[in-house]
Amino acid sequence: MRPLVADIDLDALRHNYQLACRCAPQSRSVAVIKADAYGHGALACAQALEEHAPAFAVACIEEALALRQGGITQPIILLEGIFSADELSLVDTHGFWIAVHTQWQVDTLLAATPRQPIPVWLKVDSGMHRLGFDIDEAAAIWGQLSAAPSVATLHLMSHFATADAHDNHYFSQQMAQLETLARELEAPLCLANSPATLAWPIAHGDWNRPGVMLYGSDPLEVANEITQQLQPVMTLRSEIIALRELEKGEPVGYSGRWRAPRRSLIAVVACGYGDGYDRHAVDGTPVLVNGQRCAIAGKVSMDMLTVDVTDVPGAAIGSEVILWGKASNGEILSVDEVARCCDTISYTLLTGVLPRAPRRYH
Ligand code: PLP
Repeated sequence: MRPLVADIDLDALRHNYQLACRCAPQSRSVAVIKADAYGHGALACAQALEEHAPAFAVACIEEALALRQGGITQPIILLEGIFSADELSLVDTHGFWIAVHTQWQVDTLLAATPRQPIPVWLKVDSGMHRLGFDIDEAAAIWGQLSAAPSVATLHLMSHFATADAHDNHYFSQQMAQLETLARELEAPLCLANSPATLAWPIAHGDWNRPGVMLYGSDPLEVANEITQQLQPVMTLRSEIIALRELEKGEPVGYSGRWRAPRRSLIAVVACGYGDGYDRHAVDGTPVLVNGQRCAIAGKVSMDMLTVDVTDVPGAAIGSEVILWGKASNGEILSVDEVARCCDTISYTLLTGVLPRAPRRYH
């Protein structure tokens, strides 16, 4: 078999979830497992957190149904709500919760006669300017929903645009508007994503919504003592499949971007952009070979990438290569560091790992 696998450490997932809970002891944490749990496998992650998380969050009904069909019995909130009236009857049948962010969703809910009232999170736009009602419309909609027989519990929800940033005037503006509204409505809140869970206790509500931190990625611009305790959940693991000696000045790969600065040993690794590894990785992007840091040399290809292993003793065909995650010797290469070398964020790398890298659960 091609030696590429995404190892998923479910103990690390549980550890990170507990860390999110410890950051906000007064809140309940819904585990955000949308987009197939950020590429880690939603059902396996939900099963691993089943005894710990009181609820799960996904984007849409398809994701929620897959979890129910897999036997997950907890409440599941649809963060984007429903897209058709038919979906509301599925929400009712399966006991899902919904966010509502458009007038059409509110009207559909008000007209519905579900078998049991549906828990609702009313999403307001406090500055993300993506989904949600304007702050000044929120009170009227809140009034309608709280009087509706189709609605069970009602929460106020919003999403932060800049909670990851250290010096943060915009976050404070968002928060101030939300505090005023929540006081006026006496509304329980659900605001905090991972960065707000980690760095902004003022945003901790009745519920929090940590996502990427559960998978061990540090979302903060400036790491803190808590983010340093996060453990990587996914290890993208491959092997050296060929070795090549180059003379000084000889190029490697498409367009010959990298040229050997000295007599060099180049390892060919079975992982490329056809597996989801980012093609924008620059020369120097770190990988671990036999647990030792070394660097990508040359452009990433579809099925393979090339690494300068001149200084790695014992590098041989079959040697372990970690693209991110934890090596057999315990050395860690964070997905955040790799993401920076690809001019992207951990979210895209993790969600981008394709089925050609089979998930293997531990
Ligand atoms: N809440 C909402 C509405 C989201 O869209 C997301 C993720 O995109 C999250 C929570 C989780 O955010 P994070 O992964 O940064 O914790």
